[in-house]
Amino acid sequence: MENLDLKVQYIKGVGEQRARAYEKLGIETLRDLVMDFPRAYDDRREVKAISDLVFGDVCCVSATVAAPATLSRIRKGLDITRAAVVDSAGRMTVTFFNQPYVRNALIPGESYIFYGRVGGRIGAPEMTNPVFEKESGVPGTTRRIVPIYRLTAGLSQKMRQNAARTGLALCGEELPERLPVGIRERYKLAQTRFSYENIHFPKDMESLELARRRLIFEELFVLSCTLSFMRTRQLKKSPFTIRGISMDEYYLALPYELTGAQKRAIDDILADMAGERPMSRLIQGDVGSGKTAVAAAAAFAAIRAGYQAAFMAPTEILAEQHFRSLSELLTPLGIRVGLLTGGLGVKAKREAQEALRSGETQLVIGTHALLSEKVEFDRLALIIADEQHRFGVQQRAALSDKGDTPHVLVMSATPIPRTLALIVYGDLDVSVMDELPPGRQTIDTFLVSERLRERVYNFIRRLVGEGRQVFIVCPAVEESEDSSDGLKSVKEYAKHLQEKVFPDLRVALVHGKLRPKEKNDAMAAFAAGEVDILVATTVIEVGVDVPNAALMVVENADRFGLSQLHQLRGRVGRGAHKSYCVLFEGAGGQAALERLRAFCGTNDGFKIAEEDLRIRGPGDFFGSRQSGLPDLQIASFATDMDVLRNAQSAARELLAQDPELRLPENACLRESVGMILEKNRGTFN
Ligand code: ADP
Ligand code: MG
Repeated sequence: MENLDLKVQYIKGVGEQRARAYEKLGIETLRDLVMDFPRAYDDRREVKAISDLVFGDVCCVSATVAAPATLSRIRKGLDITRAAVVDSAGRMTVTFFNQPYVRNALIPGESYIFYGRVGGRIGAPEMTNPVFEKESGVPGTTRRIVPIYRLTAGLSQKMRQNAARTGLALCGEELPERLPVGIRERYKLAQTRFSYENIHFPKDMESLELARRRLIFEELFVLSCTLSFMRTRQLKKSPFTIRGISMDEYYLALPYELTGAQKRAIDDILADMAGERPMSRLIQGDVGSGKTAVAAAAAFAAIRAGYQAAFMAPTEILAEQHFRSLSELLTPLGIRVGLLTGGLGVKAKREAQEALRSGETQLVIGTHALLSEKVEFDRLALIIADEQHRFGVQQRAALSDKGDTPHVLVMSATPIPRTLALIVYGDLDVSVMDELPPGRQTIDTFLVSERLRERVYNFIRRLVGEGRQVFIVCPAVEESEDSSDGLKSVKEYAKHLQEKVFPDLRVALVHGKLRPKEKNDAMAAFAAGEVDILVATTVIEVGVDVPNAALMVVENADRFGLSQLHQLRGRVGRGAHKSYCVLFEGAGGQAALERLRAFCGTNDGFKIAEEDLRIRGPGDFFGSRQSGLPDLQIASFATDMDVLRNAQSAARELLAQDPELRLPENACLRESVGMILEKNRGTFN
């Protein structure tokens, strides 16, 4: 029995040189080795008689070497070893390129199992470079399900298979035991030893499935423990307990009834702020679900309790927009609202800062400028960050440092599947707003081919004639490899539209390579109605509100994830005008078309997110930004999320009994949790 921390170098058959190759795969210890599961399996169980072989079969053949193998050198660097092998009724040729040692390995009269693809001619079957082993030995690489591992230079499948076998034997009963027995039994999961053996060397498909089920559960269980652990560790007491605020005045001031989802989110927030610990909550709501009113409710409560609140938007335009709408709503209630952005003049900025320091301003709206050292607050108790994914982990930490551990409310307009949200936003509590205000128009979405381009242009012309504005979005140039070409083509396209297609309309271009100021100016001109058609790369994704925009045209829609398209579509239909989204199908092929068709059929961001997750995996929700998801060894964010629910409740139960994981039987789990925290420092949002 060996310590799991044993360096792989000391495992028989590995040694110093291969240990370096293993290190490249992130495998340093015996634990790493046995926990690096195969990425696939080769089912080599089928054994056929030579007379039954069909061209193209991939199978095992049991045969005896009929005569000594011949080795012929064709030219320098190319030699061929050939042997004839026979079974009771047939004859086959086995051929090996550049494996001269095979000549001595194949002993005439001895029986072997050959595994490979059948080639040759009818009546003269042949296998090229088959895997083979003696029939009399224990099945290792033939007649069984064979694991396929990740490789790197200096390692072969055979080496990895042998190392896994040796490693498992070395561990004996000392395998990483991370699942408490009680939980394993309750969820009817396979035993540890069985699981490790069968994940590496499955006895049959059923055993493999049992092993996988257990290990997937285990991985998600450990992850859930880690996340809960993070949450319960923030035990700091809140200096701003906000209780007993009557919200009626606020509700009466609203020009509409709140939706059920909005009410629930506000209740969550009020309960948080009334609690012992500072609030750390994410509001996840589809575009247009009315998050601003929820944020304003939080600010109202904090201010009525005698504190200040800060509202951060990702861009100046959005900050100004929020400033206008929140002032309109809250000023009549006697709340003093201020704006602080980088765009203010020196004097205005100084005054705004002074008003914050003195406590004169109760609610401040701003951008990152609010993070600057010069900004001081009198008694800041609540920070609201809108469109969360533009704010990194550090920025959030910086915000929290501003005051005396204020409550933090984060709002995200990227619907992601609920299960995933629980992981991505590790330490945050999540409220989901999956309901739109009543009477909201749906945006009619059409998928069109190139053939209809003229008609789409005519449609644009008609809408602009009616006084509307139009977005035309092209795939982001900054992400394509030949980015200068990509940018050039967007520029040319915009030029073409202006000069050839719409000479009488006002066309403008905004792209990611512009400086922030230029970008802002272009967006502001569009928002002010000075531009009819805005050609853009995905820089417009985040929260711009132009109620007069009634059409979103997306070029090469197949190049976008569905969630991204949903964000884009959310840029229109924000006013009273009937709005549309037109997708040019691009050259994405059948699968892409089906995806896009499904997208046309629904306006529900959460459904779209689930679909996106299923089809493309979890990488896309945040575009090129960090996904906030830890690496998983065996479970998949796309397919195993139903297991996550059970794993989460199991984790909750365990942590309720042993919040710090101090019990000796949870030592291995505690260690794993520590390793995940260490490894993902900065990953979790
Ligand atoms: P988002 O969640 O995308 O930030 P907003 O807060 O900008 O959404 O709200 C979108 C629009 O819906 C705004 O014009 C807002 O006034 C309106 N709105 C919000 N809540 C309701 C409601 N309960 N009923 C009707 N309109 C609402
Ligand atoms: Mg918003």
